[in-house]
Amino acid sequence: MSRPDFHERIRQQRQQRAAQNRVRTRRTIERRDGVRVEVDGRWLLEFCGNDYLGLAQQFNVVNALQNTASRDGVGAGASHLVSGHHTAHEVLEREIADWLGYPRGLLFGSGFLANLAVQQALLTEEDDVCVQDRLNHASLIDASRLAGCRLRRYPHADPEGAVRQLKLAPGGAAMLATDGVFSMDGDVAPLRALSLAARMSEALLYVDDAHGVGVRGPEGRGSVAEARLGPKEVPLQLVTLGKALGGYGAVVVGDEALVRHLAETARPYIYTTALPPAVAAAATTAARYARREHWRREKLQGLVERFRVQARQRGLELLPSDSPIQPVMCGDEATALAMSSALETAGYLVPAIRPPTVPEGKARLRVTLSALHAAAEVDALVDALARSRDAVSRVRGAA
Ligand SMILES: *Cc1c(COP(=O)(O)O)cnc(C)c1O
Repeated sequence: MSRPDFHERIRQQRQQRAAQNRVRTRRTIERRDGVRVEVDGRWLLEFCGNDYLGLAQQFNVVNALQNTASRDGVGAGASHLVSGHHTAHEVLEREIADWLGYPRGLLFGSGFLANLAVQQALLTEEDDVCVQDRLNHASLIDASRLAGCRLRRYPHADPEGAVRQLKLAPGGAAMLATDGVFSMDGDVAPLRALSLAARMSEALLYVDDAHGVGVRGPEGRGSVAEARLGPKEVPLQLVTLGKALGGYGAVVVGDEALVRHLAETARPYIYTTALPPAVAAAATTAARYARREHWRREKLQGLVERFRVQARQRGLELLPSDSPIQPVMCGDEATALAMSSALETAGYLVPAIRPPTVPEGKARLRVTLSALHAAAEVDALVDALARSRDAVSRVRGAA
């Protein structure tokens, strides 16, 4: 018998990725100052992070982390059900639930883990089904695989497609899961229509609002609140702490019974060390700022509109998004890489996003805006984007 050799296999896989311009590399951030980052000894202006409200380095948020770490140490010391559940966790869960108008919240180590937990704990039978938007986040897709339920996907933002998929899966319990704001396109799910689809099909609607909470809706309560929906129509929601709140971790909000069930049965909750209490305390402070400092959202919205008007004037290809996620479409991988590299030379950090993160032929520069950007910086970015596109097409035209 001769088994495949792992080194040989991965060498071939990497060769193939290289041929497709899909090799991924990390950039090391040496220092950060708001939206300025030092990479390879050079300061670049970053237009790709998720610190939409500029809270990651906010003075009092950092102070909350430092003070709690001084008192409680660096780690939680155990999982939540053993002895790792601290007051800081408890306070954070209550504040997030209160902010979004839900009875309870449950804190997870990350959004990825929370998504795994929700499906694994609820979709327990073989004929249960999870119906999902085609462009949902990878963690929602992987969650269905882990849960062992049936997974059915509908065309992007298509509530009728969702209804069709739900009809094709009678019998078992059903969850309809969608991103609130889509992480790579920046558009918002048709949540009112999806809530009707879920109600008609007796499915539980679960909204992963990683990119909506803090940014959209009254008091930044997110896409669900913006659509004037609440716990009745959306019984479970995911709030991540690593995007607009600038920290790390995630809270699932829902009713008493659902949340207690997750806490008692979800393996990605039970069998992992609790988030450091200091990180939880920082998130509580960040959530308070996100909730009451409307100027951050208003400034961000102004920058989004400014970017779109100017990018259109320069003929850049955008997607229909009013969120701080503003992808500039490039088409193939080589164009996206070349534009990203030209931008870096001009002083901007905007990595190329390529398949399989986005569909085939839809490589892009995923530009994101933050309340920390200045209007003049957005103007200069659009200018650099247009120049890099022109330079890349000149080179390709000549080739
Ligand atoms: C980032 C993201 C996640 C994962 O959250 P982490 O806390 O980073 O693990 C889940 N869903 C969506 C839509 C996201 O954008």
